[in-house]
Amino acid sequence: MINLILFGPPGSGKGTQAQTIVSKFGLTHISTGDLFRYEIGNKTPLGMKAQAFMDKGELVPDSVTIGMLENKMNQSKNENGYILDGFPRTIAQAEALDEILKKRDTQVTHLIALDVDDNEIVKRLLERGKTSGRPDDRNEEVIRKRIVEYKAKTSPVYDYYVKSGQSKKVDGIGALEDIFNRIYDVLKAD
Ligand code: AMP
Repeated sequence: MINLILFGPPGSGKGTQAQTIVSKFGLTHISTGDLFRYEIGNKTPLGMKAQAFMDKGELVPDSVTIGMLENKMNQSKNENGYILDGFPRTIAQAEALDEILKKRDTQVTHLIALDVDDNEIVKRLLERGKTSGRPDDRNEEVIRKRIVEYKAKTSPVYDYYVKSGQSKKVDGIGALEDIFNRIYDVLKAD
């Protein structure tokens, strides 16, 4: 079983790479950002709550996010495992994830961080904003806030999984296929 946290700042290519990994390894892809956008699209109370934070480039509170993730994992059981994209984004979320997986007698097997510098991220997100329909990709101030949130609250999650040996960095710049091959090498290494 592979339980992969695909990690990295906004715009590092997690969603794009997740699609290829899913097709090669038969994993279930869960993106908490996509789940929130689905809730917003359906104007649910959870969506309305999340939107206020997302519009500002801030993280949605753990109390909302963790419950949503656990529900989704319960609805989509997969013996092959999961790719988590955009979760966990805080240490509290990582601790909650460990508990959820422990209840199923499993654990996080890999954390792969896509390494991309800030200037490249801002450039990619503004470009994506022209077609993604995502308001948080169109405004440079919101993009910069997302990067600040990532550095302050999310990057410690990398270190959290270093101690048990799961965290690995992969160069996130270059052709999509080359980046995928780097990820593949990490997944096939153990
Ligand atoms: P993403 O699609 O992963 O870039 O996420 C878009 C936005 O959704 C983020 O900027 C956050 O506001 C919110 N979000 C997504 N995942 C999480 C999470 N795990 N914890 C808190 N907020 C999240």
